[in-house]
Amino acid sequence: GTAGPGTTALNVITGPYGQTFGDWLRDCGARVIDLAVPFHTAVTARQIHDAFKRHPEIDFVSLVHAEAATGNTNPVAEIGEVVRKHGALFYLDAVASIGAEPVLPDAWGVDLCVIGAQKAMGGPAGVSAVSVSERAWARMAANPGAPRRSYLSLLDWKERWIDGGRRALLHAPAQLEMLALEACVERIEADGPDVVMARHRAAARATRAGAVALGGGLEPYVREARDAAPVATTLRTPAGVEASEVVARALASDPALPLAAGGGALAKEMIRVNHYGKDATAGVVRGSLAALGAALAEKGLTVDVEAALRAVDDINAA
Ligand SMILES: *Cc1c(COP(=O)(O)O)cnc(C)c1O
Repeated sequence: GTAGPGTTALNVITGPYGQTFGDWLRDCGARVIDLAVPFHTAVTARQIHDAFKRHPEIDFVSLVHAEAATGNTNPVAEIGEVVRKHGALFYLDAVASIGAEPVLPDAWGVDLCVIGAQKAMGGPAGVSAVSVSERAWARMAANPGAPRRSYLSLLDWKERWIDGGRRALLHAPAQLEMLALEACVERIEADGPDVVMARHRAAARATRAGAVALGGGLEPYVREARDAAPVATTLRTPAGVEASEVVARALASDPALPLAAGGGALAKEMIRVNHYGKDATAGVVRGSLAALGAALAEKGLTVDVEAALRAVDDINAA
């Protein structure tokens, strides 16, 4: 709705979701300048600044806040300052960060902030929310290619729902997803968002520290702790050890563990420990590290599961 032919978009790629978003922008006719950084890092405000220097015509910036698929998180506040200075529209995918770390669209100057409930919120897939700034509404209204007469038309929702006084829904809502969303939000409100976010942060820190203590050649995939997302921790397997095999062995011992191998080519070298919602606890982290340790030991690697569990407990006691 806010991009089309005539848009020059800077699309930041810190993982597969950023890649996908660039393809959607291209599909709607925008000119896309991809800014890809290695998946073990985060993008910096400086890199965004330099992109504007090279291409002052950029009028749209898309960024993924945290990438569940690569385990990194980006400094949105600093990037937002640069984007605002150049007057571009700022789109943020906060699907994986919401519930795990602060998401502050207004303070950060985000024009379109999209969230979903299925990651750190521990809620249903299939519902999503978007915040829309006045600037973004104006961009949509001026875009002849913006979707209309559709469930997915934000302009329809604005005209008939928001401007209409929020009295009658445009379309029948997806009942089960709405009920599940309500239950999910009530649970978060009962604990308090700060407590929920602190749980995710502690689970991620414990996984990082525990993996280092475990040994066996396992390392945090995201090099700097400040770039590591609280929603999911990615680990790098040593050369010659297939991450997907380690994960398969670990899951054979307990299929409920929130473990996955990286997608595509990353399946060779990346293990993901997800901390979504109810899985963001010390108990689940302990179980995950113990199972990964056993799987690595079966491969002949030397691991210290006791040390890993102690590292988890130390983080939790802190
Ligand atoms: C999970 C996720 C999404 C949403 O993916 P679905 O296809 O709805 O599961 C979008 N962006 C990011 C960064 C995510 O982690």
